[in-house]
Amino acid sequence: MPGDASLEATCRDCGRPLSFHAHETRPARCAECFDGFLQARDIEFLSSYAELGVTSRRIIAETCLRALVTGSPPARKVLAMSIMEQYVHAAGDLVGLMHALRQRGRQPIMRAFLGFKLDRASAVAFFQELATTPQTELMASLGLPMPDEIPARFPSLPKGDARDLKRALTQMLGDLKHTGDMGEGVALALAQAAGESRAGAAMTKQSAWLDNVGLKPNQVAAIAIDEQRRTINITAISVDEKRLQNIVSVIGAMTNISSSLIYGVLTVHQESERRQARL
Ligand SMILES: [Zn+2]
Repeated sequence: MPGDASLEATCRDCGRPLSFHAHETRPARCAECFDGFLQARDIEFLSSYAELGVTSRRIIAETCLRALVTGSPPARKVLAMSIMEQYVHAAGDLVGLMHALRQRGRQPIMRAFLGFKLDRASAVAFFQELATTPQTELMASLGLPMPDEIPARFPSLPKGDARDLKRALTQMLGDLKHTGDMGEGVALALAQAAGESRAGAAMTKQSAWLDNVGLKPNQVAAIAIDEQRRTINITAISVDEKRLQNIVSVIGAMTNISSSLIYGVLTVHQESERRQARL
């Protein structure tokens, strides 16, 4: 129908007619069916993400750290910056996952997770929550039991599986503490880096030309324009190996938290399926 301002399509799932404009792409399904389509795949999404995606930040960070040990000075700076980027990504993944899990039932997990963008406010809120919220409350907000509550919450879980889950959740509580302990300094750098555009920050060796604050010889900085605040953000990173090792260990901790969270949520799901099957 060339020339028509409004076109018709039908929802792939329920067959309801959908109208759209000529300049828009043809919708595949209606909004309600799309929510259902995503929700029906949330569990599969979580298990497949847990198998590979969740570890990607840690793998890259560890590889960078190994290369950094033998790298030339300029290469070391690039690798240090990449490690920081993985830290920001790992935190974004974890904070987004926690957000999506808390939204479950109200919003498809896949949408809440993939649409999540870490910004200053959410990065700061995350570290504040880790520092101030009791772990029992944190676990309850995620719909997960404390390790000791596993037998009562999952009565049909085989003993061996209950033991594995208890180990994973205990380790997760330790990793949450470790991540929180990393402290404000890194949280701040994270908040700053997270405020930067998706396009990525430019790397610089010197910043004196920008703000009269010079970098130390072992520092490198990312610069990004903050249009909202009308300023330039400079995130200086020290390429000191000890500090980077610490950061890589926290990336590892965040990766472990993400996988254990998913493991816990999948167990909750399986338990409720077994319960339903018995009814
Ligand atoms: Zn539909």
